Amino acid sequence: MTEPHVHEVFAIKYAAMPDRAPWMNFIGIDPHEGPSGLDFYVWLIRGGGRTWVVDIGYDRPVAERRGRSIIRNPVEGLQLMGVDAAAVEDVVITHMHWDHVGNVGLFPKARIHVQDKEMQYTTGRYMQHAAFRAAYDLDHVLSMVTALYGNRLVFHDGDDELAPGLSVHFIGGHTMGLQVVRVWTRRGWVVLASDASHLYPNMELGRPFPIVFNVGEMLEGHKKLQRLASSGRHVIPGHDPDVMRRYPAVSKELEGIAVRLDVEPTA
Ligand SMILES: [Zn+2]
Repeated sequence: MTEPHVHEVFAIKYAAMPDRAPWMNFIGIDPHEGPSGLDFYVWLIRGGGRTWVVDIGYDRPVAERRGRSIIRNPVEGLQLMGVDAAAVEDVVITHMHWDHVGNVGLFPKARIHVQDKEMQYTTGRYMQHAAFRAAYDLDHVLSMVTALYGNRLVFHDGDDELAPGLSVHFIGGHTMGLQVVRVWTRRGWVVLASDASHLYPNMELGRPFPIVFNVGEMLEGHKKLQRLASSGRHVIPGHDPDVMRRYPAVSKELEGIAVRLDVEPTA
């Protein structure tokens, strides 16, 4: 067996959303639960001589159309980390919601890794329902179809190894084809949960997020995250502002912009 590569892993914040009422973040809320905002991230992985970008966020026009704010395009965040999006060869898309797949055109060279079921979901019968469609953007879905016809999509069906020490794992739940990323680092197996758990309390308290395709898969997914990671402290939720507080900044200049996830959290 090939030894797993030791990877560096980073979260790069590109947008934030003010506090949301508890019912917007949890099904079955506890009346004591306070409001929580959401942060928006893309993730960067380096190891074995390769660079991987996990999710690619949204851009300013989409933010304006949806009345959301954006700090900077995720591509500019990557640039601050020394990564040129135009040269990136591999992008992993955890799922195709508008805040995760909005910049396909800025990654012209990339192979784009996606689950079979996510492409089926976004182009099939369930998109007849406004409730499911609302979190997708037609232009984004079309950009993925364009990438497919340009032979740049790499399909995964379930769990798959991308490189030694780097793999994707099917979760479903939040969307029909949500996948997460497991990566070997100097502190063990880190799992980028993306929207398998938006916030720490979703998975820690077993409370589903209200935007959901299959609640059963979402709850089973919380358990799978724990199994895949070296410990609960190795699971990185997709939108929790605490990620920026718990992990150290990459550098003084990047404080509040990018944190290291391949080192132990400080809180
Ligand atoms: Zn999201």
